[in-house]
Amino acid sequence: MSTPDEILHRVFGYREFRPPQDRIIDSLLQGKDALVLMPTGGGKSLCYQIPALLRPGCGVIISPLIALMQDQVNALRLLGVKAAFLNSTLAPTAVQRIEQQLQDGELALLYLAPERLTQPSTLSLLRSIRVSLFAIDEAHCVSQWGHDFRADYLELNLLHEMFPKVPRIALTATADQRTRNEICQKLNLEAAEQFIAGFDRPNICYQIALKHNARQQLLNFLQSRHPHDAGIVYCLSRKKTEEIAAWLVVKGFNACPYHAGLSTETRAKHQARFLHEEAIIIVATIAFGMGIDKPDVRFVAHMDMPKTIESYYQETGRAGRDGEPADAWMVYGLQDVIKLRQMMETSEGSEDHKRAQQHRLNAMLGLCEITSCRRQTLLAYFGEHLADPCGNCDTCKQPPQTWDGTEAARKALSCVYRTGQRFGVNHLIDVLRGGNTNKVIQFDHHQLSVYGIGLELDNNQWRSVFRQLVARGYLSVDLESYGALKLHERSRTLLRGEEVLLLRKDLKTKMVRQQPKSLQLATEINVSLWDALRACRLEFAQDHGVPAYRVFQDSTLREMCLKLPDNLGAFATLSGVGEYKLKLYGPRFLEVINDHLATS
Ligand code: ADP
Ligand code: ZN
Repeated sequence: MSTPDEILHRVFGYREFRPPQDRIIDSLLQGKDALVLMPTGGGKSLCYQIPALLRPGCGVIISPLIALMQDQVNALRLLGVKAAFLNSTLAPTAVQRIEQQLQDGELALLYLAPERLTQPSTLSLLRSIRVSLFAIDEAHCVSQWGHDFRADYLELNLLHEMFPKVPRIALTATADQRTRNEICQKLNLEAAEQFIAGFDRPNICYQIALKHNARQQLLNFLQSRHPHDAGIVYCLSRKKTEEIAAWLVVKGFNACPYHAGLSTETRAKHQARFLHEEAIIIVATIAFGMGIDKPDVRFVAHMDMPKTIESYYQETGRAGRDGEPADAWMVYGLQDVIKLRQMMETSEGSEDHKRAQQHRLNAMLGLCEITSCRRQTLLAYFGEHLADPCGNCDTCKQPPQTWDGTEAARKALSCVYRTGQRFGVNHLIDVLRGGNTNKVIQFDHHQLSVYGIGLELDNNQWRSVFRQLVARGYLSVDLESYGALKLHERSRTLLRGEEVLLLRKDLKTKMVRQQPKSLQLATEINVSLWDALRACRLEFAQDHGVPAYRVFQDSTLREMCLKLPDNLGAFATLSGVGEYKLKLYGPRFLEVINDHLATS
């Protein structure tokens, strides 16, 4: 009989397990249940695919999304694994054929939607065959509190009663303890062994910059770091996604919009383009996300600040699932803070709910304003401790400078107080800097003691002070009059001079200076070989009707460029090359490499 290691090498072409994959697999092989919490891109699928291949019978995977099922099955078939799915898109004859294959014991894996599984006919079919395991993917869908709740998932507890001897594995990337408990309780997994991998995504570089000219900043970022990559740009409004997408096209990028207001057809078309094309940018509202399993998303850019760290983490998490370097880039400014605070105050819901929302927004703002490592703060938010600064975020790469802003903050707060807590930032700055505007005259603000006491800072510096005071909760935004700032309880100690306030120095050039990706590629590997390999991959992808990354991931192509294998034996040692792909693609890729070697 084979071992997990053999299957890993032979079928998947990988060298070693990423812990705790091996322990999870062992546990299932012993017939135990498991709860797996692993970050996106951590490698959850192998945890059930390998035991399903090793245990007698067919592994049944419950997955909420039809598009994902299809993609997974395609991927398995390209590895030479007998896999199929049953869902509403199949014709009756196709369903019959798959049922027959199941009964003949020909399938190693079967993917099902939850509503399909709980149909009496499906259950009796499954009872007539040998099931090797049940895998419940996206298990957080049982949580009534989460945004991905699916009522059908609740019925999955019947598996425990109907198939008590079949091991079950529930998998999710969703973090918190409450959801975890809910999964165990609702799915009768109290006795399951829990495997909680860390949440860190070390290949993602976090960058948060101050917004001054957002579009131009985005363009600089794309041109310098990702001129030929796939990525997602998130915006808050539908209109903005369309404008930015159109503008990116004018600037020479391959971009398209995605939001809930587009027709189902257009959305499906844009999503399919995103999955199948290589250098494509999707400009989307948060309606775009769940079920996007494209592993080679090289960047996620936020043009507006998300409301919570949870959303930020989930959205940025769509970058770099393949483990290759990826960027999470965001610009934010005072207007974002004001807008979000207002949205929150005017939202429906109890006071408790609002307070909780406010609390989460504050944490997000804290992350933006922080002067130490972003990753440490992010992970700490999820209860994880990272001992040293990560070295892969903007604050690590370019430590921000701070200055003693105590005096400036006191002047700013006094100005808010003296003007009656009725004015927005622009006017407050006019007063502080002794401006001669109509408004100043109209309200007699040139008579105030705070008039003209702030000449030592320019307009931008004052904006920065106000932004940080709002972000840190010393000032709040009044919902009655748009953008008016009010003093908060917290500001008392600061006004009384009992607190020292270190503020972040805002620099205009916030971009992490690094070689653009395409140049990095050029110095390491030969660009013409790279392009030839990509073209070869695309041909196969089109033949098979799958996205290019399903043929080989970028990391495998890169290894080809670096190791230049010139025979099948050498080709087989590349990561991502299993037995089946070796046979299927090896000879053609070797030709490309040998052509290159002959001409260079
Ligand atoms: P998840 O479902 O946790 O987001 P996947 O199962 O899709 O992650 O795996 C993410 C990527 O990592 C895939 O490209 C997969 O092939 C790769 N991968 C998983 N396990 C390994 C491993 N042990 N060695 C190398 N690559 C792996
Ligand atoms: Zn860091």
